Amino acid sequence: MNSDRTNALLEFDAGHVWHPYTSAVSPLPCFMAESAEGVYIKLAGGKKVIDGMSSWWAAIHGYNHPRLNEALVKQQEKMSHVMFGGLTHEPAVRLAQKLVDMTPADIQHVFFCDSGSVAVEVSMKMALQYFHARGKPGKCRFATVRSGYHGDTWNAMSVCDPVNGMHSIFSNCLPVQFFADMPKIPFGGTWNEEDIGSAENIIAGHHEEIAAFIIEPIVQGAGGMRFYHPEYLRRLRELCTQYDILLIADEIATGFGRSGTMFACEKAPVTPDIMCVGKALTGGYMTLAATLTTGHVAKTISSKSPYVFMHGPTFMGNPLACAVACASLELIAENPTLEKIAGIEALLKTELQEAWNMDSVVDVRVLGAIGVIEVRENVDMKRIQPLFVENGVWIRPFGKLIYTMPPYIITEEELQALIKGMMKTMKTVFA
Ligand SMILES: *Cc1c(COP(=O)(O)O)cnc(C)c1O
Repeated sequence: MNSDRTNALLEFDAGHVWHPYTSAVSPLPCFMAESAEGVYIKLAGGKKVIDGMSSWWAAIHGYNHPRLNEALVKQQEKMSHVMFGGLTHEPAVRLAQKLVDMTPADIQHVFFCDSGSVAVEVSMKMALQYFHARGKPGKCRFATVRSGYHGDTWNAMSVCDPVNGMHSIFSNCLPVQFFADMPKIPFGGTWNEEDIGSAENIIAGHHEEIAAFIIEPIVQGAGGMRFYHPEYLRRLRELCTQYDILLIADEIATGFGRSGTMFACEKAPVTPDIMCVGKALTGGYMTLAATLTTGHVAKTISSKSPYVFMHGPTFMGNPLACAVACASLELIAENPTLEKIAGIEALLKTELQEAWNMDSVVDVRVLGAIGVIEVRENVDMKRIQPLFVENGVWIRPFGKLIYTMPPYIITEEELQALIKGMMKTMKTVFA
């Protein structure tokens, strides 16, 4: 693309196109992505940057992957879409089978959704319909922990952190939920029963009103990039069972290997009653998510009037998205994916240590293929973003967090280059 054309597009973009969480009148400058290949995003003008974000946890196999491309093209030649009401198709059935096989044994039913936030909405509706069917309509509220993130739609917002969750201006209009203290004991720390105390009080005190407890297993993502102790999740599972509350595990960020196990729930291990997956499901190619549940929950919902689950998006089970998701899960199964992630974890653990030498750095933490550097003050995005690009990396901090979750296909050399670009940028900004 010549630079006149690029500038014209960027100008229209700045004037008319809304990006995630941006101003319509003074947006921060955007970079023009032209193509992407492997771990590289190519920007207009020719600059190539290593993607340290996997396009927000999604592009786990990198870009322009021949197998994922092929799955899309082949499916498109058959049909790009058909309605899912009354019709089914092989990509959706095969994908459901793969998901049922790879999740805990009790998880048996799959509801396809268009995005992660919708998967969360659907999970909450499932919980309400479950207790409706059981003749307990009073159980219609939700509990969660602080510092969580579950998406941007209405009920998903209601269970995001009420202060730091990006939705505080809506808080007096949203349904009011129960918030336990965030889990404080880090992954790898020494367990202390006090950590579960706040959740236990809420559950014991309000179980008659609570349908489900929703939580991101082990990794709190967009609400703070924190890794908590697996015992917290195990105790929470026990409490939910004891007090007749469903446990919803939001694995949208953690699913498909990111935390070092295929699902973060395996670290406890616990089987949730309802599980949400999304983000990496299609290897970052298309928007697709799913809400999965147990035979017990699904059968209970279907046992009482209205006898059906009351949800059905227009583009449910889109064949293109399902076909590429099948191919992505095949790549995960064929390759030594978890070993690869362990390798990324080991390298991040040693190489990010250097960040401790900077005064502004207050924490460095790594779990699976996720590396986080926390600094004292909010990052100046206007200054830092062009510097990352100049240093050959695509890193998108938020708040005080500079973090990376690279594509699993990244080579050791590329990962070294990514970390070097991060460190060089940080030294310029913070030294
Ligand atoms: C990203 C995310 C969501 C929302 O998914 P969208 O596809 O952006 O709607 C929900 N929960 C968690 C844990 C996420 O990381």
